[in-house]
Amino acid sequence: MATTGTLYIVSAPSGAGKTSLVKALIDSMAHVRVSVSHTTRSMRPGEVDGVNYHFTSRDAFVEMLGQGDFLEHAEVFGNLYGTSHSWVKQTLTKGYDLILEIDWQGAQQVRKLVPDAKSIFILPPTHTDLRQRLHNRGQDAEDVIEIRMQQAITEMSHYVEYDYIVINDDFTTALEDLMAIFRSNQLRLSTQQKRHTQLLCDLLG
Ligand code: 5GP
Repeated sequence: MATTGTLYIVSAPSGAGKTSLVKALIDSMAHVRVSVSHTTRSMRPGEVDGVNYHFTSRDAFVEMLGQGDFLEHAEVFGNLYGTSHSWVKQTLTKGYDLILEIDWQGAQQVRKLVPDAKSIFILPPTHTDLRQRLHNRGQDAEDVIEIRMQQAITEMSHYVEYDYIVINDDFTTALEDLMAIFRSNQLRLSTQQKRHTQLLCDLLG
């Protein structure tokens, strides 16, 4: 894929605060976008179609899959999730850095297709915090929370596959850590050469 922006993968177990951190990051960094995934899961209270997810029927999802519309896809908690290939390509080509909020299965697929992608894993500070955050969301029933805790342990066991680890104990510190990753990647030689082609030419001319 010939692109100009950088592709970031952000994964975390449910309740680690990934969505809030990513939202705060894109609110403060103008050149960063986040991909809106397609999913077959039902909408939770407060979610908006086209904003949180593109909520899609299983039939429509399977049809899109057959047409090769997804860069990656995975089944999580019995629901299908996928990232639009064309949207990712367009956004990166426009020069935006792009975040994919996806699980470890999707992350493995994206790394193979885009070896330059940077991957970040967000961890909660403790098990107790994770369980508490799942309760506080008030979105899931007790039995679903138990399943999500078990799933969280499976998800977290993949942390070693990622380039960066952010621990979300204090929100402000975790956000600063996340921003530091983006800032340092923007300062890389290859990125600066693309962003400041004219300046570098002028300076050496
Ligand atoms: P939730 O349903 O709680 O929003 O998300 C459940 C899990 O699905 C999270 O781990 C989330 O990162 C993952 N997920 C969301 N969108 C995608 C996607 O497009 N692809 C993959 N592979 N995982 C996704």
